[in-house]
Amino acid sequence: MSAPRVGFVSLGCPKALVDSERILTQLRTEGYDISPSYEGADVVVVNTCGFIDSAKAESLDAIGEAISANGKVIVTGCMGVEEQVIRQVHPSVLSVTGPQQYEEVVRAVHGVAPPLREHDPYVDLVPPQGIKLTPRHYAYLKISEGCNHRCSFCIIPSMRGDLVSRPVGDVLQEAQRLANAGVKELLVISQDTSAYGVDIKYRSGFWNGRPVRTRMTELCQALSELGIWVRLHYVYPYPSVDEVIPLMAEGKILPYLDIPFQHASPRVLKAMKRPAFEDRTLARIHQWRETCPDLTIRSTFIVGFPGETEEDFQYLLNWMTEAQLDRVGCFQYSPVEGAPANALGDHVPDDVKQDRWERFMAHQQAISTARLALKVGRDIDVLVDEIDEDGDAVGRSHADAPEIDGCVFISSTEKLKPGQIVRCTVTDSNEYDLWADHKPLS
Ligand code: SF4
Repeated sequence: MSAPRVGFVSLGCPKALVDSERILTQLRTEGYDISPSYEGADVVVVNTCGFIDSAKAESLDAIGEAISANGKVIVTGCMGVEEQVIRQVHPSVLSVTGPQQYEEVVRAVHGVAPPLREHDPYVDLVPPQGIKLTPRHYAYLKISEGCNHRCSFCIIPSMRGDLVSRPVGDVLQEAQRLANAGVKELLVISQDTSAYGVDIKYRSGFWNGRPVRTRMTELCQALSELGIWVRLHYVYPYPSVDEVIPLMAEGKILPYLDIPFQHASPRVLKAMKRPAFEDRTLARIHQWRETCPDLTIRSTFIVGFPGETEEDFQYLLNWMTEAQLDRVGCFQYSPVEGAPANALGDHVPDDVKQDRWERFMAHQQAISTARLALKVGRDIDVLVDEIDEDGDAVGRSHADAPEIDGCVFISSTEKLKPGQIVRCTVTDSNEYDLWADHKPLS
């Protein structure tokens, strides 16, 4: 008898991707095969995203597509908290669950396509590193779920609940398995990485027979022992962040911080109810760069938040000039159903939002172009991500996270392979990307 087959559609952010990987790992452990097409699957799981309205629309479309191609569809993920909406549009879905409800998803799969009895998880093991949906050489490492903050534009805490940190021993074991399996770069993710362990009072766990505290600095120390790239995402500028900068300066973890600042004007930040912001943020950025001159700071911003005045916006532009951030994304504010910010007064008209967005992007592009130009002539390490159709290698440096930052286009006399880390000299730059010559070792 052949193994039951599951189709899987994974939408949304890296955190949702990690959920998908967990569900797939469990199903593979139980002997399921993964079907690359709807038609070949006994059941299809759609892991949805419900962050903004366009993501919800995309999720509903994906569910519809799976229903027409296969008919047996299980829905999970962030949009799963809106079961009624999903059932209204697609009454034939078999089950709907919210994010991180791995067991319920697996149970629903059992109900439609039971696992083979003769499968023995101790003999027919999945690869020890689990199933990864990301390319072989990098992987996301989720350290916690949920968030204790209540930013007024965000509905994540109502979907995912308060912060729950994963045991540090489990996190480190997963990281070790991934490193042993050949992963070259770990991307640490959560809703609030610097708050890791707050919920359990930084309790100590065990890894390799020694105690490690459930805390960002101690986690980074331990991860640095794996000898691979470690990149931190979604960090808020709590005082404890100062402790990881020396680890970056010493080359133990990547000199890269992804801090979603969202705005700079104290008035707007207050209306947004953002955590850990204070007047000294600029001074701290300068201090971090003094300790670690190669530090790359990435961030995202929202323009046109309710009540944002031209003065607030100018404050933000001036702050950007001072902060000299390397990588920046910017969104125009749009209301998210259920977010408290919807009830705020003074919504900014669409044409003003568009105008501010364009001015912001032009302002930041000039900064980013100038900062990348400073790299021309320098030697950098590049992790090769792919070989393009012309046979040229495209990779990323310490300063570039996959999918959200720029690339390094490599010219080499050697045949390079994805996952290889090569030393290159930067020859050119533009507003986002670098061009570099590979320097063979001999
Ligand atoms: S920190 Fe704010 S924006 Fe981020 S998940 Fe928590 S509530 Fe949402």
